Amino acid sequence: MQTFFSDEQLIDPGIARSNEILRACVHCGFCTATCPTYQVLGDELDSPRGRIYLIKDMLESGRPADEKTVKHIDRCLSCLACMTTCPSGVHYMHLVDHARAHIEKTYKRPLMDRLLRWTLARILPYPGRFRLALLGAKIGKPFRGLIPDARLLAMLAMAPKQIPPVSRNDDAQVFPATGPRRKRVALMTGCAQRALDTDINDATIRLLRRMGCDVVVAKGQGCCGALTHHMGKEAEAHGTAAKNIRAWVAEMDGEGLDAVVINTSGCGTTVKDYGHMFRTTDMAADAARVSAIAMDVSELLMQLDLPEGTQDMRVAYHAACSLQHGQQIKTYPKDLLKRAGFEVVEPADSHLCCGSAGTYNLMQPEISAQLKERKVRTLMAKGPEVIAAGNIGCMIQIGSGADVPVVHTVELLDWATGGPRPRKMATD
Ligand code: SF4
Ligand code: SF4
Repeated sequence: MQTFFSDEQLIDPGIARSNEILRACVHCGFCTATCPTYQVLGDELDSPRGRIYLIKDMLESGRPADEKTVKHIDRCLSCLACMTTCPSGVHYMHLVDHARAHIEKTYKRPLMDRLLRWTLARILPYPGRFRLALLGAKIGKPFRGLIPDARLLAMLAMAPKQIPPVSRNDDAQVFPATGPRRKRVALMTGCAQRALDTDINDATIRLLRRMGCDVVVAKGQGCCGALTHHMGKEAEAHGTAAKNIRAWVAEMDGEGLDAVVINTSGCGTTVKDYGHMFRTTDMAADAARVSAIAMDVSELLMQLDLPEGTQDMRVAYHAACSLQHGQQIKTYPKDLLKRAGFEVVEPADSHLCCGSAGTYNLMQPEISAQLKERKVRTLMAKGPEVIAAGNIGCMIQIGSGADVPVVHTVELLDWATGGPRPRKMATD
């Protein structure tokens, strides 16, 4: 695609990167076929190619974002199915991230929008605040008839019935390997996950220790920055990401780390991109070091020779977009589950997003609900006894519609290798 940025505009590293990306696009439109929002809405402007044109126009003109551009960029899930499909290697993720930051700086949203986004950015990345908000949502549920805004209603609906107690496993400490030590790894314990489902980190720690890892929960780590990054709030995202980089680099320079392990794939995609996010800052080298050893938990487990098991259960595997498209990890979780003995089935159109997508299910509840309905239907059509996924957002989204328990892949692997049966699958 031809672009017309001026030399002056190209001095800005963000514009220079977007220019590179735009020039790679040959506007063939292959990406439209796999874009969930295009499938739901049928509007070219809600397809990757349409959004690319809108972003090009917005950035080239140097003008503030307009309502039409914001509407169609806001409807993008950042599922990155388009990147998997694109034959020209267009890095849509960096382009849409840049567009969102530009929108955040130049566009004045309606008051309710600003208020909701401000609130989400100040609650979700902080487990203590998020826990309080979940309690508030639980209390507020009986009054939902009085709430006029669909987004506020979606927030209430997403609040889980049970809010787990704080897990002390998420505090800074080192869990030694239970057998001979093979690796020393830092576990990213995350933010929203620590309030919504503490079983996932608990199971990960048990499993990794059993597989010969010292598991470090580094002091000072927290939210990866993805939630605010996807809202275009660069300063907030960089602030929380910088804390993680400092925490993990201190461990790397101390006793050393073989990996930074992430069990929420949305966060994993972001941590793997820290090198890019910080490329023009004085933290560039440290950020690149962290990104270089960042791994999804399934990648690490593939290196650790998980023992073969005999679990006899039908599992429908849901591939989170951030895992299959963002990190291009498609087979490892299924291979691991099969190795543990599970029968693994997959839904039709497994490349399509479930509609969770960070805060998308809260900010775009109608589109999200359609995608959820489709995902739950195609998963349940496979007759599973349990659904497994590698991302807490997908688990909550699918769990709010499925008739069988939804667990994290590591919970099943932990169970298959000697850990407790996942609580969500309790039989009594
Ligand atoms: S598939 Fe790639 S090259 Fe083709 S229109 Fe989409 S982004 Fe552009
Ligand atoms: S990220 Fe997903 S929703 Fe956004 S344009 Fe690409 S395929 Fe469509």
